[in-house]
Amino acid sequence: MIEITWTGAAGLIISNGEHTVCIDPFVTRPGKMDVLFKKLHPDETAIENYTKGLKGNVHAIVVGHTHFDHALDVPVIASRLAGRVFGSTSLESLMEISGLPGRTRVCKYHEHFNLADTISLTMFPSIHGRVFLGRVPYEGEISQDMHLPFKARDYRLGDVYMPRIEIGGISIMHAGSAGCSVKDLAGQKCNVLFMCVPGWKRCPDYTSALLETLQPGIIVPFHYDDFTTPLSPGIKPHKIPFSDMKGFIKQIAYVMPRAEIRIPLPLSPMLFG
Ligand SMILES: [Zn+2]
Repeated sequence: MIEITWTGAAGLIISNGEHTVCIDPFVTRPGKMDVLFKKLHPDETAIENYTKGLKGNVHAIVVGHTHFDHALDVPVIASRLAGRVFGSTSLESLMEISGLPGRTRVCKYHEHFNLADTISLTMFPSIHGRVFLGRVPYEGEISQDMHLPFKARDYRLGDVYMPRIEIGGISIMHAGSAGCSVKDLAGQKCNVLFMCVPGWKRCPDYTSALLETLQPGIIVPFHYDDFTTPLSPGIKPHKIPFSDMKGFIKQIAYVMPRAEIRIPLPLSPMLFG
């Protein structure tokens, strides 16, 4: 059995009990005023609770892109864990200026890694969704001449990946933003597809060609929580306004009538396999 826990935003903990992979760990959840006006600081207590809940060996921390709701907490989490950190050159810069040089494996698109006996990672290219006013927020790169702490807008996008984790015979893909590059996924399939909800209407391929290509048996909509509000385990979170989750579910059920759609609750492990 594989256990997957959604930790808010695009965060997942994927574990077979012995081995664990973390994707986009983000637990600080700064409030709206902080996001708009202040410099952001990782919440050490929230991170302590996160890392002490991890099971077995953590083999990897995987980062799909470097917006703050994906990357803010990565340096502090990585400093407490032994696993390798996988992501973009923008992530490598963030790690360097956080005092963690040499910890990041900068991934080429389509690059494949064996993480442990039964676990592998492939970093497929992807495209960020058009979220605010039809635009991709905070484009560009984090560079090594920047100084922490950053404001939200300084957590620039960097390269965007759609990671695939194979674990215990199950393949899991992570669409941490509502965009995709279907041509880069030709011939790929997965068993479980995690799909970011906000922004889905602005990328028609995302809820049609992507699903027809990957043919997931299980679809898990996530990143639907308002990540400027706190999370409680097992309790429905505040949703991001105007993301039209109902319309999203109707659309994916129409395109993939045989797929199971599982709505995750935060910090509640789901079992697969
Ligand atoms: Zn983003």
